[in-house]
Amino acid sequence: ATPLVTSRSTGIAAKKGLLIRNRTPFEGAWKLDRVVFDKTGTLTEGNFGVTDIHPSNDVTEEDLLKLAYSVETQSDHPIARGIVKEGKERGLELYKVMDYRNLTGKGLKAKVNGTEIAIISPGAMQANNISFDVKTYEKLAQQGKTVVFVLKDNDFQGMIALADIIRESSYKVIEELNNRGIETVMMTGDNSRVANYVGDKLGMSKVIAEVLPHEKSDNVKKLKEGGRKVGMIGDGINDAPALAEADLGIAIGAGTDVAIETADVVLVNSNPVDILNIFKLSKASYRKMV
Ligand code: ADP
Ligand code: MG
Repeated sequence: ATPLVTSRSTGIAAKKGLLIRNRTPFEGAWKLDRVVFDKTGTLTEGNFGVTDIHPSNDVTEEDLLKLAYSVETQSDHPIARGIVKEGKERGLELYKVMDYRNLTGKGLKAKVNGTEIAIISPGAMQANNISFDVKTYEKLAQQGKTVVFVLKDNDFQGMIALADIIRESSYKVIEELNNRGIETVMMTGDNSRVANYVGDKLGMSKVIAEVLPHEKSDNVKKLKEGGRKVGMIGDGINDAPALAEADLGIAIGAGTDVAIETADVVLVNSNPVDILNIFKLSKASYRKMV
């Protein structure tokens, strides 16, 4: 009888916004104790806009943005897309950029007119002991903004703040999972101030921030300790190993190919609210089989 049940439930799943790639983990979804969410592009829309530009002394707002705009044209990170959008809107000119390097999970580096330009995270600023206006940074971080720092030959040139929007449906997903007694965990490479701001707003059980891409799957492994069943949902290349490590890997349909190919279930409408259908359907197909 199993094949009949299976094909029927596949059709239902499609209507519920789910593409099931691996049936066994999908059917075990009702057993999950924890669900781990990537932040940018999953809980949030992943659509950053520049909100504040704070150049350091001797630097103009336009100079700062021009540098950042030029270098960020080389990256396709959501932060880069936000800065490039701002530069384009202002009609700024581009510098010629050479020797671009991605500092995975920390930012990027490139050469402009022979000087080295870096755009890095608050964590990387601290790790390198580079001084900056902490008060301004804290004020922006408190507002839930993501802040990046621009350096010229390791000299602080200023900071640029960006804001993303929490998806409306994320509130419902987190509330419902919390009500079902499933632990809701955020895991992000963004700094802990922003991460906690979003996590508190959504009412999440736990926030793990400033996670480097290669640490994401280790964190999922730790969350599985003691026989806990862990689901992971993400959209990025850096989420793929964690999706593979999880008992159930879920990818956002609009996410990167690598994430989709690694996931057990794909949310084809890119709406996190469809995760709730995974729980409903996995229970239904379980009941039919026993
Ligand atoms: P996420 O989990 O949000 O996808 P990432 O690991 O991609 O995080 O990035 C972590 C942090 O590294 C970002 O919050 C940012 O501070 C910095 N970063 C990454 N890419 C860029 C970029 N293109 N420009 C500036 N900063 C970046
Ligand atoms: Mg992401």
